[in-house]
Amino acid sequence: MIVRVSITLPPAREKDSRFITQQLSHALQKQGCDRAVEQAAIVCEKKSIDARHGSVKLVMRYALYFDERPPTQEEKLPQWKKADPSKKVIIVGSGPAGLFGALTLLEYGIQPVIVERGSMVSERKKDIASISTKGLVNEDSNYCFGEGGAGTFSDGKLYTRSNKRGDIPQVLRIFVHFGADPKILTDAHPHIGTDRLPGIIQNMRNFILSMGGQILFDSRCTNFLTYEKNGTCIDGIQIKNTKTQAVSELHAKAVLLASGHSANDIYELLARTAPLSLEAKTFAVGLRVEHRREIIDTIQYKKQNNIDTLGAAEYRFTS
Ligand SMILES: Cc1cc2nc3c(=O)[nH]c(=O)nc-3n(C[C@H](O)[C@H](O)[C@H](O)COP(=O)(O)OP(=O)(O)OC[C@H]3O[C@@H](n4cnc5c(N)ncnc54)[C@H](O)[C@@H]3O)c2cc1C
Repeated sequence: MIVRVSITLPPAREKDSRFITQQLSHALQKQGCDRAVEQAAIVCEKKSIDARHGSVKLVMRYALYFDERPPTQEEKLPQWKKADPSKKVIIVGSGPAGLFGALTLLEYGIQPVIVERGSMVSERKKDIASISTKGLVNEDSNYCFGEGGAGTFSDGKLYTRSNKRGDIPQVLRIFVHFGADPKILTDAHPHIGTDRLPGIIQNMRNFILSMGGQILFDSRCTNFLTYEKNGTCIDGIQIKNTKTQAVSELHAKAVLLASGHSANDIYELLARTAPLSLEAKTFAVGLRVEHRREIIDTIQYKKQNNIDTLGAAEYRFTS
């Protein structure tokens, strides 16, 4: 039996297991459950900070497992299989969509072949540095293009105000499996951190390769290979090596386009290849605004003296 219970704690009590047990006990009784907390395996599922109404509280959600063992995070991960090279799917782009697409194919033992126009993370860092130091922009390896996609050098915020919901806990578990801090599994506003994200992307790459996937860097998809059967079908791509300019062809059972919203050439190609109706989406422009932590902490935490145990306060602007 699993019972879910939410309690609020003063921040100073976050690690006080006796106090937490007492609070859980009261909450269980309120819910009409007559089992003792001591008989349960306790798993923290969510932690958020409520700084409204003049006092700061931690809002914690726990799952209490009675008479059963909670599954470990690793046990909940997908069962990835070694790739069968006779079942091959091309993925254009190694951003989040491409990497998670490759991991999904591996659940079925299908071989992902990722074709990425930009460079590996380590090379890409140098290309990005050249933008500010020399004013040089490499059109294939920059902030938008390269291993890990557009957000590789970002803060890696993992929450969204969008209503498109998938299996978000599983996405977070996969990030932890590849090196993210397990705190992201319970934080209300999880983020990976600029310092860790490139390493996690490299771990994903190494795993995909170890399972028999392939990744071609500095390889730009420049055309689709097509045949006609009840309409135009795509069964491969033309690739141009961006370092040597060599052109080659790659065939597969299917092509997954995970080229992101900056790949205008891919959309032009699509429009030329098949009679598709394409429509431009509106887009958002992001600005980086920095404020001193003390100012935000003082506003959000109302000068309470437990600021250090809470970490930097969160805030957002709306206009
Ligand atoms: C500076 C910045 C900060 C961000 N911060 C966050 C954040 O904190 N949290 C968050 O959730 N989102 C963030 N985002 C948004 C996030 O990065 C995107 O939503 C996400 O990267 C989209 O993933 P994707 O895989 O669809 O496309 P992309 O990440 O754009 O990946 C597409 C990949 O395809 C490759 N490609 C394109 N054309 C071709 C071609 N012809 N041949 C071969 N390869 C090709 C590109 O090189 C690229 O690697 C940020 C974006 C930016 C730019």
